Amino acid sequence: MAFITWAYASGWSQKRRDPGLFLEHQLMSISGVLGLLVVAPQVAFQALVMLLVFSAADGFLARRRTSFWLTWGLTLTLVAVVICWRGPQMRMVTDTLAGQLLTAAVMLGAVVRCSMLVTYFRGMQYRLSASNQKLAAALAHIEQLARYDELTGVANRRGVLERLHLALEGVQRHGTPLSIALLDIDHFKSINDQYGHGCGDAVLRAFGSLLSTEMRAIDVAGRYGGEEFLLVLPETDIPQALVLLERLRQRTQDMPWDRLVDQPVTVTCTVGATQYQPGEPVEAAIARADAAMYSGKALGRNRVIIDGMGG
Ligand code: GH3
Ligand code: MG
Ligand code: MG
Repeated sequence: MAFITWAYASGWSQKRRDPGLFLEHQLMSISGVLGLLVVAPQVAFQALVMLLVFSAADGFLARRRTSFWLTWGLTLTLVAVVICWRGPQMRMVTDTLAGQLLTAAVMLGAVVRCSMLVTYFRGMQYRLSASNQKLAAALAHIEQLARYDELTGVANRRGVLERLHLALEGVQRHGTPLSIALLDIDHFKSINDQYGHGCGDAVLRAFGSLLSTEMRAIDVAGRYGGEEFLLVLPETDIPQALVLLERLRQRTQDMPWDRLVDQPVTVTCTVGATQYQPGEPVEAAIARADAAMYSGKALGRNRVIIDGMGG
């Protein structure tokens, strides 16, 4: 008990894989009582009762059903072996037959009652942990819905802005460059008008997967508006961003759209990009990328425009 109290109070148990110390509990109680049964069988009776009761009660701490049944089975087997061996030397608290029968009945009753209680609480524990797992899965799903766009599979506006704010920490801490870009699909309204909203959706989905496959793992693409996407490119200066964005623009133009969406559409996009200037509000950088994108639209679309500040 001193060891267990110390283990919990000092925080040692928290460093173990099983902070409930199931194995330690079982090993100590089984070896302690069986040791007593071997060296002093005449006074070991009560301890044996306690072992059976606590072995079942300790089942509470088992993390898996199998470890509970294993140790419980082991306890009963060892007790049976030792009783066969040292049984004749064991003494009960009373010498009368009635007293001994009563003691045995109390012992049996205690074990049965304890097992029933533990089984009940274990069942409750298993049900709780199962519903906890379901809750965690539901929470993960909700987080996914809150940060990802259902149609395109890329981050949604909230998700991409969160990642942008995270990327800003890299700029502030390490002084690494950060580029951002806005991509807008050209004449998207006419795709909807000519081929229907479903076709427009299919174009958006294919465009989303193009972005996901073309970008590096540290880059983030998010759907910023209807057919407008925001790209966050950490550790990327404008010349590097230009290479990536020009490739994206070209791939968009070259995609086999007619096969992808079953309609003879042509899809291009216009891109505006800028490098984030340390200390400025993100809105200012996004506004520059937006202005660059709009000047690209004015110049005839299907092009990448870098805003003046980025070089
Ligand atoms: P520009 O080249 O100047 O960008 O012209 P545009 O037609 O692409 O731009 P505009 O802003 O006029 O039209 C965007 C259209 O995108 C209008 C809107 O109905 C459509 N849109 C927005 N969200 C969705 C969506 O989730 N699915 C579909 N199919 N269309 C959408
Ligand atoms: Mg557009
Ligand atoms: Mg637009």
